[in-house]
Amino acid sequence: MDFIKKMDVTSSAPEAELDMKGPAEPVECLIVGSGPAGYTAAIYAARAGLKPVMVQGMEPGGQLTTTTDVENYPGYPDGIKGPEMMEDFKKQAQRFGTDVRYGLVTKVEFGADGKHRAVVDGERLIETEALIIATGATAKYLGLESEKRYMGHGVSACATCDGFFYKNMDVAIVGGGDTACEEALYLSNICKKVYMVVRRDELRASKVMQQRAINKANIEILWSHETEEVLGDGEVVTGLRLRDRKAGKPVEIKIDGFFVAIGHKPNSDLFKGYLDMDEVGYIKTQPGTSKTKIPGVFACGDVQDPVYRQAVTAAGSGCMAALDAERYLGAKHG
Ligand code: NDP
Repeated sequence: MDFIKKMDVTSSAPEAELDMKGPAEPVECLIVGSGPAGYTAAIYAARAGLKPVMVQGMEPGGQLTTTTDVENYPGYPDGIKGPEMMEDFKKQAQRFGTDVRYGLVTKVEFGADGKHRAVVDGERLIETEALIIATGATAKYLGLESEKRYMGHGVSACATCDGFFYKNMDVAIVGGGDTACEEALYLSNICKKVYMVVRRDELRASKVMQQRAINKANIEILWSHETEEVLGDGEVVTGLRLRDRKAGKPVEIKIDGFFVAIGHKPNSDLFKGYLDMDEVGYIKTQPGTSKTKIPGVFACGDVQDPVYRQAVTAAGSGCMAALDAERYLGAKHG
């Protein structure tokens, strides 16, 4: 096989080199990642008879496994726990024959002949003509121990998902970009008061978003403040300890919910230099499709979506990827 693309981005991949031209397990459709996008792609691909194999990745079930209640996914009128919902997705994908496997894709090669290869766990090779990338994105966190302790118990990285739980309460959001402003405005329509904790004395967000946040009566911007600790009663968040960087002194505020909006990192390192990406690393797809610039390689979900990042939009794009893959294979093989 003549490979046009070669890469190895995981420094943690085992040293012992696998012969990339060696024997590989052929699969019709390989799905990498197991969030709403991956599982929806799997359901559609399986029902189309593509016998998909899914390699689940580092965090089986994706970002939703770290949230508690999901109330905005249609079809669950009483809400559902994130991990439970992902189990349902998995069962549905398996019901139609998806081969769901634990494992991490550690290396990929894109063949000029349209046969793409993936190394799983540094030791097994899979070859496919239809590769669906659904590796998701990871929210960035401050890295505080207290932030970790109250994750899902007052700390969240998604205001659209969890803001509703703080109706008429006081919350804080950290960050000064468009996401922080947008989410602060969203929260300001639900919550009594929203503190925006901004580490500099200016916002990074676009001017129009800045003005909206600044002008909103129940948003108070705490300029030049750093978050030092998320305070809690052992069960839930009760406040924040901040440092006023200009005055050089600590400040405490009382809040019920703490939102982190300091950016996301798309999980696209594996494909860097080979697929087109924006400056942050989101994979670019042809508008209105899931097609990347390499034939037979499709991307769906948060790894290609810097804007919406919702479970339902990820699922929708997973469906698109499976349909695109099915049509691609159909056109190729008749
Ligand atoms: P950004 O990278 O644009 O902003 C991150 C913000 O978080 C910055 O204000 C940054 O501060 C702050 N930050 C980073 N690390 C820390 C930290 N450790 N402690 C405190 N604050 C921190 O990310 P966004 O998610 O806001 O936006 C990503 C991209 O998506 C942008 O291009 C944005 O324009 C776009 N976007 C567009 C939207 C729209 O058009 N409707 C909506 C949402 C996003 P500092 O400024 O000091 O670096």
